[in-house]
Formats: sequence, structure tokens, C-alpha cells
Amino acid sequence: MICNNLSVRDNTLCFAGRSTVELIEKYGSPVYLMDEDRIRENCRTYLGAMREAFGENALPLYAGKAACFKRMYEIIGEEGMGADVVSVGEIHTAYLAGFPMKNTYFHSNNKTDADILCAMEHGVGRFVVDNEEELFAIDRIAGERGIRQKVLLRLTPGIDPHTYEAVATGKVDSKFGSAIETGQAEQITRTALSCKSIHLAGFHCHVGSQVFDSEVFLRAGEIMLTFIADMIRHIGSVEELDLGGGYGVRYKESDPFIDIAANIRQVADHLRTVASRLGIDLPAIRMEPGRSIVADAGMTLYTVGTIKRIPGYKNYVSVDGGMTDNPRYALYRSPYTIMIANKAAEPCNFICTVAGRCCESGDLLQENVALPATVSRGDILAVLTTGAYNYAMSSNYNRIPRLPIVMLRKSDTGDGRGIDYLAVRRETPEDVTRNDI
Ligand SMILES: *Cc1c(COP(=O)(O)O)cnc(C)c1O
Repeated sequence: MICNNLSVRDNTLCFAGRSTVELIEKYGSPVYLMDEDRIRENCRTYLGAMREAFGENALPLYAGKAACFKRMYEIIGEEGMGADVVSVGEIHTAYLAGFPMKNTYFHSNNKTDADILCAMEHGVGRFVVDNEEELFAIDRIAGERGIRQKVLLRLTPGIDPHTYEAVATGKVDSKFGSAIETGQAEQITRTALSCKSIHLAGFHCHVGSQVFDSEVFLRAGEIMLTFIADMIRHIGSVEELDLGGGYGVRYKESDPFIDIAANIRQVADHLRTVASRLGIDLPAIRMEPGRSIVADAGMTLYTVGTIKRIPGYKNYVSVDGGMTDNPRYALYRSPYTIMIANKAAEPCNFICTVAGRCCESGDLLQENVALPATVSRGDILAVLTTGAYNYAMSSNYNRIPRLPIVMLRKSDTGDGRGIDYLAVRRETPEDVTRNDI
């Protein structure tokens, strides 16, 4: 099993110790499941490792874009995490959940004046500023409100996360941030210091996603610290350095394990050495995990419908969901592990494509999947590790109502029983037509 919250009992796939067959009977099909205890464990891994390695002023920020709904912000708030927000919708969700807004960091490469105003009205703690134009807009709006807005400047350190090389081109040409390489990072730093209503609190970088090697963070951190050392005589001191998100998760048995706590310790050791060589203090460190907080806490259950065998070509197994609840295979061929949840102990030798129900031939959940040869209409199909970027990227294409999110956790009494509850209810056809005039 790719994660230890999965098990098989009486030929049935269990998640967080619970029978998936019983859960789909109770909540209907298709459905997202989320393991609350696993989300909390993942938060604690970051919180514990970062505080130990970087000191008590370190803070992991959950990147809400991975899975954003009110209950998520309640959980990460209780755990003591901060949060990245990227839109007025995410800001509103965090606010409604009672999340401490001073611990939110507002990202985006194109914040409109209305976004900026909304974020200030909600008391967002920091703006992560992408470019000069945006900096001027924040300065102007903060000035009108009579405040000094704390900001981090987003820089591109010029690292390609999948070769681990610092490159002069490549990531420098990203749509995000100001490149150190081209001098634009220095330029925006000077500008920020000259803005009356801007408080420059530090710098940010984010090198990529599905990163399995701490080398990426070592190199990025070193480049950022070197830049900070160059700038420090202008700035005085730098309060925060945000290293971004991106640690990888296991979607397939063949994906490597990653020891996040050990990786963080390695990054900390390296950055301390670099800071002392440069003769600067290490700023308070931020990281922004999204996927690695929620991915393995999620699973999607579907019901099998049509099974189509095209002799000499291929086999299709169609389910009652698809690209509307998980567009990631259609978008970028993302790998997933798929099982028949009610035949979880049976040998798998029927090779097929798992297709969704949308009117779109690209609507596939996965190709070359091995399922039991007995797969038939009414079986329950489970896609594992769907906690990140599934609900968050879901749509109403074909006017298909969105799925509910069912949370699972162990009972507080320690009797070993599980608790299940709805965090997001299933959309109805009325929800889908709500905004039609
Ligand atoms: C997407 C993103 C993250 C989170 O990335 P994960 O791969 O989900 O950990 C963090 N920070 C920024 C700026 C991002 O764009």
C-alpha cells in the first residue's frame, strides 16, 4: 500500500481504518474522503521539524490552493499553521473559518486593486509581491487606508527543480516573481524601500512542485541568502525568508518515500552554515506545503458503470465522475493508483483505461490500469491520494454537481471507533443553476 492509512479487510479497501464500502453506502457516489488525523499528522511533521531546526519563530504556511474549504482552515488553524491565500475566495473561506488572518500570506502574480483592498479589509498579514506594478498599487491603497503594509518580495532564484541546476534561463523566465539574475530583484527591493506605505518584511521564492530532493531547497535557500547579504546594507535587517512549497508525495508504489523532517533538518544545517559564512542572521523561515499536507489524506470513491471491451484495441471502465472532480490526468497525465474497493484482495490482470462520464474524449482518470478481471457494473472504484488539487480544481463542466467531502477521524474516547462527518455537502442541480438569472 502506498500509504499507511490504507488497508484491506475481507476483500474490502479500508481508509483511515474505515470500510470504503460502508462509507459510500452512507454518503452516496461519487464521494471524496479526507483523513483528518492524517492532515494533522502532516501539519505536525512540518511544525515540529521547522521549529526544531529553525527555532520557534519558524512557521509553515499551508498552501490553501491544494484543498480549500472552511473545515481545512479550522484544522490547520488549530494545529498552529499559517496559510497562503491566492484569491478573494480563499481569503473569504479562511475568514469564515475564523482563521487568524494575521497569519495569512497573499500570493498571486496579478492582484487587482479590488483584491488588494479586500485583503487589507480582512487583515491579511503579508502580501507576497510579484512585481513593481503591484507594489505601487499596494503602496497607494495602503496609503489611502493610512496603514503600512507588510510585504515579502517574490524572487526567482533561477533554479530548475528537476535538474537541481541553477540556470541563467529557464526559471528566470517564469511568469512569477522578479529574477535575481536580471537585476530586477535588486530593483524591486530598492523600490520597496522607497515606498512610504510598504514595510519590507522579507523575501519569498517557490521553485516548483513534486520535489523529492532537498538539494533544491538547499540551492534556492543559498541563492536567496546570498541576495539578502548583498541587500542587507540597504535594508538593515530581513525578518523573514519564505522558501515556498513543493515537497513531493507518493502517487504510485514506484514513487520514492521522502522524509520531510530529515529534509528540513538538512536545509536548516546548510542555511545556518551559509548565513554564518555570509555574516548575516538567519531570518525567520517560512515554508508553504500544500500537496504534502493533504494529498495522502484524500481518496475518491466512484461507482463502476459501463465496461467496454474493444477487441484487439483496449478496454474501458467508466465511472460516475471524471475530469469534473479530478482534471489532473486530463491536464498533465498525473499518475494515480486505482483499485476496486470491494475486490481489494483479488489479483489484478485486466488492463484498462478508467474513463469519466463527461462528453470529452480526454476525460480519463488513468490509462494502463490493472483491475480484477471480475470488475463489473456496480463495483466501487477508488482513486488513491486525491487530497490535493482535486476538489480544488473541480468544475461543473457538463453541469455535473460537485462531490461532497466526508471527513474521517478517530473518536476522542479512544475506543478505536471512527467518526465520519460532512465538511462540504454534495451539490444539487439547484446549486448548479443558482446564479442563472
Ligand atoms: C503551489 C504553491 C505552493 C504549494 O505547492 P505544493 O506543491 O502543493 O506543496 C506553495 N507556494 C506557492 C507560491 C505555490 O504557488
